[in-house]
Amino acid sequence: METLKIENDVEIPVLGFGVYQIPQEETKEAVENAIKVGYRHIDTAQSYQNETEVGEGIKASGIDRKELFITTKVWIENVNYQDTLKSVERSLQRLDMDYIDLVLIHQPYNDVYGSWKALEELKENGKIRVIGVSNFGVDRVVDLGLHNKIAPQVNQIEINPFHQQEEHVTTLQKENVVVEAWAPFAEGRNNLFQNEILKEIGDKYNKSIAQVVLRWLIERDIVVLAKSVNPERMAQNIDVFDFKLTDEDKSKIATLEQSNSQFFSHADPEMIKFLSSWQLNV
Ligand code: NAP
Repeated sequence: METLKIENDVEIPVLGFGVYQIPQEETKEAVENAIKVGYRHIDTAQSYQNETEVGEGIKASGIDRKELFITTKVWIENVNYQDTLKSVERSLQRLDMDYIDLVLIHQPYNDVYGSWKALEELKENGKIRVIGVSNFGVDRVVDLGLHNKIAPQVNQIEINPFHQQEEHVTTLQKENVVVEAWAPFAEGRNNLFQNEILKEIGDKYNKSIAQVVLRWLIERDIVVLAKSVNPERMAQNIDVFDFKLTDEDKSKIATLEQSNSQFFSHADPEMIKFLSSWQLNV
């Protein structure tokens, strides 16, 4: 698996297996299958409520922990200094691991500065290798970096053919922040899996629409997270390292831009209130 360098001794596999919306009872098997077909990077979160089953799937796979790159995220209710320290300990227990490769502040709300100080300490103590954020605007990523010891090393945001985030991505990459794409398929919204332009490009290489989307993201030096519970689709999604898109293909994909999230805006006050009202006790 190709990797991107985050810091001297940390490399992140460019393709990760996402477990959002995989029910607890299916997660262990999904993770075991994903590792079997070759994934070495798994993306979970406290709020997905399946960290325990991710840990079980990893154990069942028999793979050496050191060969994996594991991400989890701190949910809003834990985004302050004390609760981040405690809740990352609970994530470690649920995953049944001595360290986590990457921990992200999941949403840009609550006491982000307090939480960040806790993540810095956990990194310094060797409990976390890399720390970052998710769903942050460029201004808040740069601000957090400027006024703390450690700058965010990753920002995980929505990127797909309908929400390409060109400026956001290039600006962060210039600031040496690794960008990760969530919902690369827009969860199938806007008929992504029937899109004629993506299909036409895929047909040239004998690849599916999903494979074209993943390749397009990887070629932008974006780490991409894809979710599937279906072993055939898991295998299909990782089979993207034997073809390259042309500039013409990329220009055609550029025309799909709609400049809007396919889900919601993180700056919408009603959404901030709604997400902040989730008390998950994680
Ligand atoms: P996604 O990966 O864009 O889409 C998943 C959907 O696509 C599922 O319905 C899946 O169905 C289908 N699919 C997968 N591969 C396919 C293929 N080759 N052909 C046809 N259909 C296919 O959506 P996502 O799960 O929301 O995003 C991916 C990961 O990003 C998540 O799992 C999570 O780790 C992360 N994420 C992070 C945030 C955040 O706020 N930080 C938010 C959302 C997601 P099957 O399972 O039936 O194959």
